[in-house]
Parts: sequence; C-alpha cells; structure tokens
Amino acid sequence: MKLVTYLAEGKERVGVLTADGAGVCALPYEDMNEAVAAGLEAVEAAAAKAEAPVPLGSVKLLAPIPRPRQDVICLGINYMDHAKEAEQYDKEAFGKEKPIPIYFSKRVTRAVDPEGDIDSHPGLVQRLDYESELAVILGKTAKNVPADKAGEYIFGYTVLNDVTARELQTAHKQWYFGKGLDGFTPMGPCILTADETAFPPALDISCRVNGEQRQSSNTRLLMTTIPEMIRELSSGMTLLAGTIVATGTPSGVCMGMEDPVFLKSGDVVECEIEGIGVLRNTVK
Ligand code: MG
Repeated sequence: MKLVTYLAEGKERVGVLTADGAGVCALPYEDMNEAVAAGLEAVEAAAAKAEAPVPLGSVKLLAPIPRPRQDVICLGINYMDHAKEAEQYDKEAFGKEKPIPIYFSKRVTRAVDPEGDIDSHPGLVQRLDYESELAVILGKTAKNVPADKAGEYIFGYTVLNDVTARELQTAHKQWYFGKGLDGFTPMGPCILTADETAFPPALDISCRVNGEQRQSSNTRLLMTTIPEMIRELSSGMTLLAGTIVATGTPSGVCMGMEDPVFLKSGDVVECEIEGIGVLRNTVK
C-alpha cells in the first residue's frame, strides 16, 4: 500500500492510493500516527473496506506524517561517498576515523508537504543544502530488538529531505540548530508500507535541482544498515511506534562541490526513491 495524508474539503485525512496511483480512498483514522499505531494488518483491513476513490488531482497532498510525535532520529555520514565529500568540505567537522554511526536529532514542528516550500531563512542562512534520504517509520514500539528481528518493527518508508544550513551545522558543532529550522523537513509523497519491498530495502535514491541530477545511489549502500541502527538505538532507547529514522544521504550535496553553489530562492529540489515517488519542493 501507498498511504498518504491529504486535505479534502478543508479536512486533513489519511488515505490509501489506488493501484494505478490516480485515486485516493479515505481511511478511518484521525491522522497517520493513529494509522501507524493501529498496525499494518488493521490498515490493510480498513483499506479493503474503503469507499470509492476520489481523483488524486482533486486533493492536496500533505506530508504523510505532518506532525511527528517526536524529533526525527537521523544518521549522519552513512554512505561512504558522502563521507568523503563531507570530509573534503570541512575535515574538523566531518572527518572521522572509523564508521561509528553518527546519530542526531532533527526538530520537526510541521513537516513540509510535497510541493511545499523550503524556507530559505534569508538573513540567517547563506549555505542552504539538500539531502535526499530514505526515512524508516516504526510500526511497533521497539526496545532491545535484535538485528534479525528489526524488519518486524517497520511500518513503512518515505522520502525525507534533510535540509541543512551548513554554516549553522558546522559553527555550533552539534547539528541540531542547523538541521532543525522551520521548513527544513520535507517528507513524502507517501508511505510505502514495509510489505511492498524487500528488507532491508535496496532502492534507487536520487536528487535533482532544477532538473539537474545531483545525487544518485541505492539504499543498499548504507554503511550502518537499518537492522543495525534499530538494534543499536533500541538497545538503550525505547523507540515508540511512529518513530521516524532518516537513514542518511549519499554524495552529491552542494557542500560536496568543488566550488559549492548552495540553494537559492526559486530552486526546485526533487528527491526521489524508487517505489515511493518524487518529493518536490521549492526554495522560498
Ligand atoms: Mg542527513
């Protein structure tokens, strides 16, 4: 299933896309967090009984989880090619000797909708960058989960753009401020449920800016794999159902350029993951 959150007649709804992707059927949940808590089987049963679809073009898609229950957990430097470009940009900030996962948190008061605006924060930010990422959504509360059981805890996947203000990220040492500004977490266009793809997922991931290809990789190249990150995080932290984990970005971000050109107002950023779709946003 591809699950979406959308606005129809002024009301936020949760729905499932039709097989051809052209229509959406409403589901009986107040919001996506409630659907996630209900679990995949319950959502599937509700989808089987859903009413006739309305055309997707007649509704406005919102971020699949517009208001995450908690900050998004993120992995930094989790593709080898991105590790190299980040170290070239700022060795002190990004250089590291061995691949111990970097975990950080991204504050998200309101996720940015598909087709929504990325706030460029003029006056505060000059080095605005994108990061196309696979985000994992947990479907069950996880504590002390062994790696070989991690797949049982996944509800689904979406595309997340880990928008970053590079100068704030490096100046403050911790990445919280530079990655947690308002309008810095575009998400969508849908949640692909976990049963629809292999585990761990091996999906092409890319990013285009104004139609120009910038990032191109595959999620099988994650350095810390999804089973391993769930094992490690849940070994000391309770991960509630609905937890979102952004798994890191491949190379090709602005800071990786020889002469970096950062995002500017009017740029259109398209993050895409095979099987999930295109997350398109415009820098405001
Ligand atoms: Mg990132």
